[in-house]
Amino acid sequence: MKFQAPRGTYDILPDEAHKWHYLEKIIRKNAKFFDYKEIRFPIFERLELFQRGVGKSTDIVEKEMYVFKDKKGRNFALRPEGTASIVRAYIEHNMNSSQKNPLRLFYFGPMFRYARPQKGRYRQFYQFGFEYIGNPEPIADAEIIAIGWKIYQDMKIPNVNLELNSVGCVNCRRKYYKELKKFLIRKRGNFCSVCQKRMNSNPMRTFDCKNKNCQNLLNNAPIMLENLCPECESHFQKVLDLLNQMNVKYNVNSKIVRGLDYYTRTAFEYKIEYLGAQDAIGGGGRYDELIEYLGGKSTPAVGLSGGLERIILSLNEAKIDIQNEESLDVFIIPLEEKFVKISIEIMQKLHKKSISSIISDSQTSLKNNLKYCDENRVKFAIIIGENEIKSKEFTIKNINEKSQKKIPTNEVCEYIFIQLKNN
Ligand code: AMP
Repeated sequence: MKFQAPRGTYDILPDEAHKWHYLEKIIRKNAKFFDYKEIRFPIFERLELFQRGVGKSTDIVEKEMYVFKDKKGRNFALRPEGTASIVRAYIEHNMNSSQKNPLRLFYFGPMFRYARPQKGRYRQFYQFGFEYIGNPEPIADAEIIAIGWKIYQDMKIPNVNLELNSVGCVNCRRKYYKELKKFLIRKRGNFCSVCQKRMNSNPMRTFDCKNKNCQNLLNNAPIMLENLCPECESHFQKVLDLLNQMNVKYNVNSKIVRGLDYYTRTAFEYKIEYLGAQDAIGGGGRYDELIEYLGGKSTPAVGLSGGLERIILSLNEAKIDIQNEESLDVFIIPLEEKFVKISIEIMQKLHKKSISSIISDSQTSLKNNLKYCDENRVKFAIIIGENEIKSKEFTIKNINEKSQKKIPTNEVCEYIFIQLKNN
């Protein structure tokens, strides 16, 4: 039997790993800039957490979750997103009182959704996310949106479109839903079966439908932005003003409603046209109702999450090469097996100086070992043979400059240390 990675999953092979490190570095740097602290949470949780926290009428909960029973017959699910788990952890650990409030948290990690795999859509994919809990003010929304914007700018992703909307609050939605339902029901027969089903339970989700015909029908639908209550309208306007002050470019798009049920007020997505059908590289919004809904004290919050695979796809598509800067410092080449012992001593001394180094096997020819250095952008090679031992001087090759030098045995590590520092 030939094994393969499960459909919708993939391996990140060593020659691609540096791209992921590059993205993670930028995310971590921005987390530090804005003082967001890392949180790690389980890969699986009780199924009910996601049913409540993501929403029963969402695609994720309706059809995309990996659900399983444990040996005691309890229902669990692999996490399809991060916010529900963070809120669970926030309530469980009473984080609003034990840590400073408001609270800024970020995370990375694999998420799991059973959807039909296609370009940019996987069954296991990586997300990063930022959550700002405890601040009801527009500045919190603007901060979260600006962090995403800055991360994508730092990653040098071309042509990111930030689309922004307000989905209102429970109060203004009540009146709006009545109007929207009236509109939808009038044209019911023309909508796809999924939209027909959602019209009653969660009419705003029809805006999320990818069906072109439904989208065209919705062009004349009443929109939330024109039905906001004065408080929500003022909140949205302030978010826009703050983003202008922060030089974050956006478009207001009344069709951005997000796939999850728990959003209130601000909803946003970052999109890239050239990615095709799966064009969202991130998104988020305010979720002022969720913490109370999951059993905590009523607490406002706003968050963002982004997918790493689509970022890598967009960088590849835009032909932006991420250099692998993670090359080996020193390759030690003992020309015979008897020189392995001294090679080990040198390797350990180099490691003590935080210089990466490995020892070649003594069966491979010098020529092939040097070829390896060339191909893998190794910085230095130390060659140890009979002559070097006799003269108490090792040959140090600078691979990039294609030069070589004899250095007294006991000065080799210091020499390389200084060379690396000066480069
Ligand atoms: P969502 O929680 O659905 O808004 O997802 C946030 C981000 O995660 C999206 O904008 C995508 O970049 C990414 N994402 C969501 N689902 C997938 C998937 N199945 N495969 C790859 N990336 C995904």
